[in-house]
Amino acid sequence: MSFTFATDNAIPVHPVSALDYIPREKLREIQLHRLQNIVRYAYERQRLFRRRCDELGVRPEHIKTLKDIRLLPFSKKVDLRDEYPTGLQAAPNEEVVRYQCSSGTTGKPIVIPNTMNDIKVWQQGVMRCLAMGGVSANDIVQVAYGYGLFTGGLGLHYGAEGIGCAVLPISGGNTDRQIMLMRDLGVTTICCTPSYFLHIIDEGHKKGIDFRKEMKLKHGFFGAEPWTEEMRSKIEEYTGLVAHDIYGLTEIAGPGVGGDCEHRTGLHIFEDHFYPEIIDPETLEPLPDGEYGELVFTTLDRTGCPMIRYRTRDLTRINPEPCPCGRTIRTIQRINARSDDMIIVHGVNLFPSQVESGLLSIPEVMPHYQIVVTPTGALDMLEIKVEITPENFSDDMRHLEDLRKRIGAAVKSITGLTATITLCEPHTLPRSEGKIRRVVDLRVQK
Ligand code: ADP
Ligand code: ZN
Repeated sequence: MSFTFATDNAIPVHPVSALDYIPREKLREIQLHRLQNIVRYAYERQRLFRRRCDELGVRPEHIKTLKDIRLLPFSKKVDLRDEYPTGLQAAPNEEVVRYQCSSGTTGKPIVIPNTMNDIKVWQQGVMRCLAMGGVSANDIVQVAYGYGLFTGGLGLHYGAEGIGCAVLPISGGNTDRQIMLMRDLGVTTICCTPSYFLHIIDEGHKKGIDFRKEMKLKHGFFGAEPWTEEMRSKIEEYTGLVAHDIYGLTEIAGPGVGGDCEHRTGLHIFEDHFYPEIIDPETLEPLPDGEYGELVFTTLDRTGCPMIRYRTRDLTRINPEPCPCGRTIRTIQRINARSDDMIIVHGVNLFPSQVESGLLSIPEVMPHYQIVVTPTGALDMLEIKVEITPENFSDDMRHLEDLRKRIGAAVKSITGLTATITLCEPHTLPRSEGKIRRVVDLRVQK
């Protein structure tokens, strides 16, 4: 396979990455051309989009510059639910090759029709992420994301195959088998949710496996749920691999909408396909680069179900500074907050990732925790259950009390909240084979 070189920094680039370095002016030209096409296409084929445009008095020909995207109506997950199952499908049935689903808000899943073109766009996104992380055709890739309606498994599968890797399509679950094949095949690259990888490590440790010595892991591609820099350090420390972040959502493609490079400045977004904006979630006004708000995407060339100005509910900012890697596609700050995950305790907005950052800043703490909110009359109780390392789980009450205090202080310094800290023995808190549920909010359970 031939390699090209980016003009200004001479880093070898996998052919699939060429577009990562496209001059911004050229990128904007491509984006505008694609935006005009997709708006026309969606206006003709998506009733809901046309109705909303008509209500606002906007027509496809009004899109003359990229800024004109602001004239267009937003879309939301609830639209996909209301139009369940295929009311937003824009391509005829004979062009649709696959349905992928993600969880809806009220039981029914949302259904995203994909054409062959969409599958290719999606595959390219994952390939660009893997190539950015340094994966090549020599790698053996264990895909332990769930296969099926969830986009994680098939997304990474097609991406890794596209690079020419040897793929082990093991899907989630059966952790003993995961560990056995990882070792016996000399797997170099693991792809799964960060919480599932922690579970794999944990089960391995129980069997006395030293991941650094007995495995050949070089890369991990973790995503589908928020995970902090502190979690990244733990994973790297336990296994010696380089932990890459991969981001995406079913409505916009699946994993591979963006990912991080070796500089870890954030997630490079494949802007030639997925046009990002940040808005103020209250006023819906677009915010300038650098300001924090809700991430909105327009799919510039998906034909099965184009999403125009889709509100992701993910909170982040577009980094104004270019990344030192030389890529011209911009980065967003890693996603550590999804508006849906926010809970309000004692009148304060709390995200699980804030708790995670606080907890993992204490060396005796293991990356397994759960946040429990219990209604107790006037003031709700915030309890954080956290596992501590076996050496620290002793009968020495003074030591435990001191540890509890330090953990409480670390959490308070980040969240501003006083929590009851419960120290748990290793391997006692729930693990997950997919996305983990970190919060148990007993106030909203019936
Ligand atoms: P569901 O909405 O059912 O969880 P998806 O599997 O499509 O469906 O999940 C997409 C969401 O997962 C994103 O909107 C984001 O909140 C979260 N997510 C995906 N990748 C990452 C990542 N790398 N970091 C943080 N959150 C992520
Ligand atoms: Zn970069």
